[in-house]
Amino acid sequence: MSKARDRGPLHPETIAAQALGRIDPATGGVVPPLQPATTFAREPDYSLVRPGHVYARDDGPTVREAEDIIAAMEHGVAARMFASGMAAIAALLRAGATGPIAVQKGIYYGTQIFATRTLAAHGVEIRWFDGSDLASLADALADEAVKLVFLETPSNPWLTVVDITEAANIAHRHGAKVAVDSTAATPILSTPLTLGADFVVHSATKSLNGHSDVLAGVIVAGNTDEAMWEAICRERHDAGAVLGAFEAWLLIRGMRTLGVRVKTASANAGAIAGYLAGHKGVEVVRYPGLIDHPGHAIARRQMPGGYGSLLSFDVVGGAEAALAVAGRLEHIVRATSLGGVESLIEHRKSVEDPMSGVPEGLLRLSVGIENVQDLLEDLEQALAPLA
Ligand SMILES: *Cc1c(COP(=O)(O)O)cnc(C)c1O
Repeated sequence: MSKARDRGPLHPETIAAQALGRIDPATGGVVPPLQPATTFAREPDYSLVRPGHVYARDDGPTVREAEDIIAAMEHGVAARMFASGMAAIAALLRAGATGPIAVQKGIYYGTQIFATRTLAAHGVEIRWFDGSDLASLADALADEAVKLVFLETPSNPWLTVVDITEAANIAHRHGAKVAVDSTAATPILSTPLTLGADFVVHSATKSLNGHSDVLAGVIVAGNTDEAMWEAICRERHDAGAVLGAFEAWLLIRGMRTLGVRVKTASANAGAIAGYLAGHKGVEVVRYPGLIDHPGHAIARRQMPGGYGSLLSFDVVGGAEAALAVAGRLEHIVRATSLGGVESLIEHRKSVEDPMSGVPEGLLRLSVGIENVQDLLEDLEQALAPLA
């Protein structure tokens, strides 16, 4: 359909900046048009005016445009947008729940809650494995009952790096598919389908959109021949958690700057992680770009463009000290979420279940694209009483 794709694989920055290089056929506009219609007309003989355009819960042209861009960036063959990252993850996990599901421990809290509360309540067995010890994955798959493995790398907020190729090899040996939540990596830094994964999922609310003003999710398939992909598409159609046209259009607009945003935020995060690692008031810094991070060697291989904008660190003195540090910040905003152009900090213990096991003093920092000196100075004055 697009000239850009016929010329061979372009880099994700180019695909995003040019929105696949498509020119609006109706006007020549260089920006993809927004088509908000929920329904599409038929001819007197009842054939569709434009084949494939029926009703917006099935599909819509602007949503399809966003799907094509993300599928191309991820080297996938198809994508489906959802109303949120969790809607995408829920559809994927339900589609994979023909037996038990293997899910990585310590990943995005909402995914863990969906698995333990909703799926478990519907009788789905969840087998938890350790993303940094894939022997535990092999154990979970030993009886070949599991058909879907769900992992997240780098994970939020532990920054565990999972070897995608190794996990895919183990899963495929046992007849299971692998889905990777690549929200923290983005296709600028890592493309899991090229490393052996079968599906990639993103909370497009985060770095893909990047402006903290759209809630969206997406699943990308490396191969549409799978029964599981059919089940995912059926899920979206039947359950109806599709993205709206306005959100899809905003997402396309936000993604145009994905390359520069991710690279700048990633460089800023690297500088901040290095600064925090040398601070007396900080117990531990989790960032895959630090050479003493346990997943650094894997990250260097599977995230060749950089280590991302997400990090977490534990403040000496536990919850009280961590909350005080967050409270003294003047420019970094105290709020949940990540991947936006503005830096956000969150005390995870305050928002997770008391049993979740997240350290008392853990602050999660999503680094934005501000001037890094301003961010470092803000952290320095907030940490000063602990120096
Ligand atoms: C935020 C997030 C999600 C959930 O996405 P929503 O768009 O908030 O539903 C899933 N996975 C990761 C890693 C996230 O950070």
